[in-house]
Amino acid sequence: MSPKITFWVPAVLRMFIVLLIALAIGYFSSMLWSAVSIGVGLTILIFLQLNYLYRLSLWLDSPDSSKLPDGWGAWTEIFSRLYRMRREDEKNQIELSEWLARFRQAMTLLPDGVVIMDDVLFLEWCNPVAEQHLGLKLSQDKNMRITNLIRSPEFMDYIILGRFDKPLTVTHRDRKLILHIIKFENRRQILVTHDVTESERIDRMRRDFIANASHELRTPLTVINGFLEINAMQPEMDSMTRAGHIKLMAEQGQRMQSLVEDMLTLTRLESVDFPIRVEHINMRNLLESMVSEMHGLSVGKHQISLINQGPDVMGSLDELRSAFTNLASNAVRYTPAGGTVVISWTQTENGPLFSVKDSGIGISPEHIARLTERFYRVDKSRSRETQGTGLGLAIVKHVVLRHKAVLSIDSTSGEGSTFSIQFPLSATVSTAEH
Ligand code: ADP
Repeated sequence: MSPKITFWVPAVLRMFIVLLIALAIGYFSSMLWSAVSIGVGLTILIFLQLNYLYRLSLWLDSPDSSKLPDGWGAWTEIFSRLYRMRREDEKNQIELSEWLARFRQAMTLLPDGVVIMDDVLFLEWCNPVAEQHLGLKLSQDKNMRITNLIRSPEFMDYIILGRFDKPLTVTHRDRKLILHIIKFENRRQILVTHDVTESERIDRMRRDFIANASHELRTPLTVINGFLEINAMQPEMDSMTRAGHIKLMAEQGQRMQSLVEDMLTLTRLESVDFPIRVEHINMRNLLESMVSEMHGLSVGKHQISLINQGPDVMGSLDELRSAFTNLASNAVRYTPAGGTVVISWTQTENGPLFSVKDSGIGISPEHIARLTERFYRVDKSRSRETQGTGLGLAIVKHVVLRHKAVLSIDSTSGEGSTFSIQFPLSATVSTAEH
């Protein structure tokens, strides 16, 4: 039944009864006409009051301050007080929802995950980072128990033991997370998740680098110390043997120097404090001086050729010389005597392309992805034999990155390798600028 009928049927009945009573009183007291007019007056008055009550009850169904009806008599005061209260309410509500929206946005922008749960760990709300860290989906998982959603034994123990003063480190979905539960209000708790996968990886890399660098430096130092001891113990050593020792010590010293220089170069290339200094590079000069250096390294054991058809480029001369020389010297060092090394510089539709192709020992596929890691070598003894520091390709990778170029490696074990650097078209110096 409509509210209009439920309201008006008893109201009209009541008015009718008032009218009847007034008529009855008038009839029995033989003042019929005055009773009729009093009855009608009262009925109109009651009708007016009922009408305001009805409008008020209708308004309460959707209490919007702008739709509050105008009143008459005492109703004016009632409606204006209601209006003020409602306006205040509406203002508070708008402020509250603005705060809530701002809070949600701030939570969304946080780099950490935030999960809000009730006292018995039922999920109430979480931000997108928490969804990502913990594999949750708020729309589906809301009101589910968090221990049913995160099924890690360490997390279960953490919850059971309830020692929330200390954070918990867990590996969850291939990520290392630090979880922390904080109680708030009386019946709520927050679970904060912090992803440390990346910082752990960088820490591990730093530790490995220091361990590897120390190990690399220790070997030549041990050799030098060994010879120094022998020489100290045998002052009468013949000059031929001593000269031999000095030569070996000098080699080891040279090796240590190359290592330190490569480490410093790498540090510089990685540092944001050393932005790239771009200049016009005369490629002909660079390539020709590099090829003659390679002839010196090969001492006539390889057939080295140069194809130079590419343009001059904008880049860092020192960095490109270092990258190109590293690739070319690797080709010479990892190609047995009698092999060939072809260095080429061409222009392609994607931009200038530098490549070094050798007919050397090649690399099997499982090693290729790791070659640019610091100190990664396929064959440690061969690298040392050929004076390798294990940092050459790491340097190349950084130079390539700084020039917005792309390094590609194509190799077949036992047949040879091609290392290429594809520069962007924008690196080209147009002939008009020559
Ligand atoms: P290294 O100083 O040991 O040469 P690099 O970083 O320059 O260090 O190279 C890493 C490893 O990649 C080398 O130890 C070698 O095993 C492999 N490598 C690099 N260039 C070649 C190549 N042209 N042919 C075969 N193997 C290569």
